[in-house]
Amino acid sequence: MKKVLLINTGGTIAMSEDQTTGKVSPSSENPIHTQSAFFNKFAELTVVDLFNMPSPHMTEERMLELSHYVQSRAAEFDGMVITHGTDTLEETAYFLELTLDLPIPVVLTGAMRSSNEIGSDGLANLRSSIFVAAADASQGKGVLVVMNEEIHTATYVTKTHTTNLATFQTPTFGPIGLISKNQVLYFQNLLRQEYYPLTKVDQRVALLKAYAGMDGDIVQAISQAGYQGLVIEGLGAGNLPPKTLTALDGLLAQGIPVVMVSRAFNGVTEDVYDYVGGGKQLRQAGVIFAQGLSGVKARLKLMALLNTDAPVNIQEAFHL
Ligand code: ASP
Repeated sequence: MKKVLLINTGGTIAMSEDQTTGKVSPSSENPIHTQSAFFNKFAELTVVDLFNMPSPHMTEERMLELSHYVQSRAAEFDGMVITHGTDTLEETAYFLELTLDLPIPVVLTGAMRSSNEIGSDGLANLRSSIFVAAADASQGKGVLVVMNEEIHTATYVTKTHTTNLATFQTPTFGPIGLISKNQVLYFQNLLRQEYYPLTKVDQRVALLKAYAGMDGDIVQAISQAGYQGLVIEGLGAGNLPPKTLTALDGLLAQGIPVVMVSRAFNGVTEDVYDYVGGGKQLRQAGVIFAQGLSGVKARLKLMALLNTDAPVNIQEAFHL
């Protein structure tokens, strides 16, 4: 039987609803513990509580600690499942994808409804995730997110709905696999996997979203606040309002890398337009265009590139 390590970090999957007030919060006993016997037929399960926190409390330091913990236990197991709050699950998943280089699958999952709510999805998501982590077909697939009987890559998945159980989706590309009653089925592959070993996360990267009429004040504030990198969710294919440009040039002149993604939900950025603030001129000025990553993912990637000891060229790393 396959050996799977279940690492709990908290989130709604580990919470309960107060039946009188309706408040959802962590309980002293993680409800997952009372459920782990359900999964014995899928794998020999070892359970570890690493953290017990809502995922808005997740930090880059905690992500690094989790990554190192996964690395330290990987040789003992055929697969791993990490339970996590859904709010920042996609960020932790991608951080692990960037910082681990393991043959075994690492699967992140969570729940949209706490353990004692009607229609709670935690148990079903946990079952699917253990099933995926123990499947031969999952070897070499990197870090995966399993929710609502779908398998997504950590690189492209995102939370799309505040409460719906089908919240996790992969814009543009779709999920790479699904879990049926009895099978784990893959029908797509992630073409590129990256690895940036990290021992620290002290180089900071900010994320801004562009909007009509935006000016340069907030862009200028980035260097004043001491950030070492900036990701901008730009307009359309990768354009910016003209009033941001002087401040942007100032950042580039200081050697602060600026990465462009799109605030649009689907598609990739490209330097198409040749007007003031258009993508052609931004690229000429030195802005790096990221292909297909969301703002939060590009922020983590730039942070990994700035913090890694491995030799990297930031421009080339975003053009993979
Ligand atoms: N706010 C919760 C969290 O991310 C939401 C969830 O887990 O679904 O911790």
